[in-house]
Amino acid sequence: MQIKKQFIDGKWVYAEKNKSREIINPFNNEVTAKVTESDKADAKKAILAARNAFDHGEWATSAIERGIIVRKIAELIERDKEELAKLETLDTGKTLEESRWDMEDIAGVFAYYADIADKDGGEIIESPIPNSISKVVYEPVGVCVQITPWNYPLLQATWKLAPALVAGNTLVMKPSEITPLTTIKVFELMEEAGVPKGVVNLVLGSGNTVGAELSENPDVDLVSFTGGIKTGKKIMQAASHTVKKVALELGGKNPNIVFADADFDIAVDQALNAVFFHAGQICSAGTRLIVEEAIHDDFVDALVKRVKNIKLGSGFEEDTEMGPLISKEHLQKVINYVDIGIEEGATVAIGGKQPDAEELKNGFFYMPTILTNCMTAMTVVQNEGFGPVITIEKFTTEDEAIALANDSIYGLSGGVWTKDLAKAERCVAKMRMGTVWVNDFNIYFPHAPWGGYKQSGFGRELGKTGLEEYQEQKHVFVNLQPETINWFGTKEK
Ligand code: NDP
Repeated sequence: MQIKKQFIDGKWVYAEKNKSREIINPFNNEVTAKVTESDKADAKKAILAARNAFDHGEWATSAIERGIIVRKIAELIERDKEELAKLETLDTGKTLEESRWDMEDIAGVFAYYADIADKDGGEIIESPIPNSISKVVYEPVGVCVQITPWNYPLLQATWKLAPALVAGNTLVMKPSEITPLTTIKVFELMEEAGVPKGVVNLVLGSGNTVGAELSENPDVDLVSFTGGIKTGKKIMQAASHTVKKVALELGGKNPNIVFADADFDIAVDQALNAVFFHAGQICSAGTRLIVEEAIHDDFVDALVKRVKNIKLGSGFEEDTEMGPLISKEHLQKVINYVDIGIEEGATVAIGGKQPDAEELKNGFFYMPTILTNCMTAMTVVQNEGFGPVITIEKFTTEDEAIALANDSIYGLSGGVWTKDLAKAERCVAKMRMGTVWVNDFNIYFPHAPWGGYKQSGFGRELGKTGLEEYQEQKHVFVNLQPETINWFGTKEK
């Protein structure tokens, strides 16, 4: 099996130490690819290439040129979207249909940023000084490090790559060590689109070695990270030594409030969609279902009836609705997480174990699970499990629902289901989250910002704010008629 290479300074190269890593298909535990295993030395080389390209290259000089190249990347993704979708399913285990949706979104994000690349040349400010010009111009931040997780490998990479490129930065990306395949392919497409040498660099090692070097290296100006809260804290610390800019997209434990006056069937259907795509491995999954007492029992019954029919299997089979978890280690985490919930008093309404089916035995499968009798203080309600598990809490008043929803260290996203839009707006105003959906869940598009409150992180991706993350603002003041002030040393001693 040919070993896939890293991309540094415009060349595809093996890692210095000549080691490699096997990439595993989570559906059957088989090796699908081998990639070169980068180390600190490779990370340093990649940073140097990005530094040289930024300090001595032309990438920062023309927003119009950058827009043209980023549009070309969008077109190439559109051309190769089926191949990319298949690679993503191979790497993550998610259904091919979900991977196809991802690829549409990914091409859309590159196209969105290509569209706005040259639309904002800065701002003239009214100057209080006569005969002067005051203006604000936007400049790239410099060398950006981008570290991405395994759950939406290429989607998360794209939310970082497209705005960073359009803003004129150079970059080094490190995908999760377990899901690098689509990111490698997109670097090939960026090369084909004509991104100049050294502007984009890719290293493929582990977080503890390569990731750590990238976060602390003094030649890096910004670290943008998507991943778990523990890693986010380490990165913040490492970046603090040289006061790098940091953007953190961390986890979530997202409440989904259902009032008794909601459309029952739609709320049931969407409560399932809110969690079970990609086997619940979604940062914004609505895993904390908070249901008004009057409909609680019927709601649980309706959910259980639907969950019974969820078809687990290979992401490549057309009738599969849910694939495996990403790895053996992650499966064990989810098993432990549910066990703790049961010890704490939760009741398993359905699921709560691995499936028995022989054909799923080699994969990392866990059954879609619903836990009732959940209380806010339980670990299973507070911690991000990142698996196909819904916990259900009850409420009786609007204030109680809001208090439950906000009782979390996280603040990534949440949902409210009701036909009373005034009530919905009251809830939205009090919910401490970066995104709140009313009568929907998990909707994203390139034009709207994405990011968290509280310990879900800071900074925003997507939208115009996503571009601003990668820009510095420079105030330029030009005095057209300079005069002497004669303050210093004009009085003879
Ligand atoms: P991790 O935090 O384990 O890893 C994320 C990335 O960080 C990986 O590339 C990892 O490398 C790297 N990394 C690990 N240790 C370090 C380190 N010391 N220094 C620098 N980089 C390091 O997250 P997961 O991959 O497990 O992803 C799941 C998490 O991501 C969940 O918490 C989820 O909520 C969050 N997430 C948040 C999103 C958001 O928009 N807010 C979106 C998607 C996911 P390696 O793989 O080699 O360990």
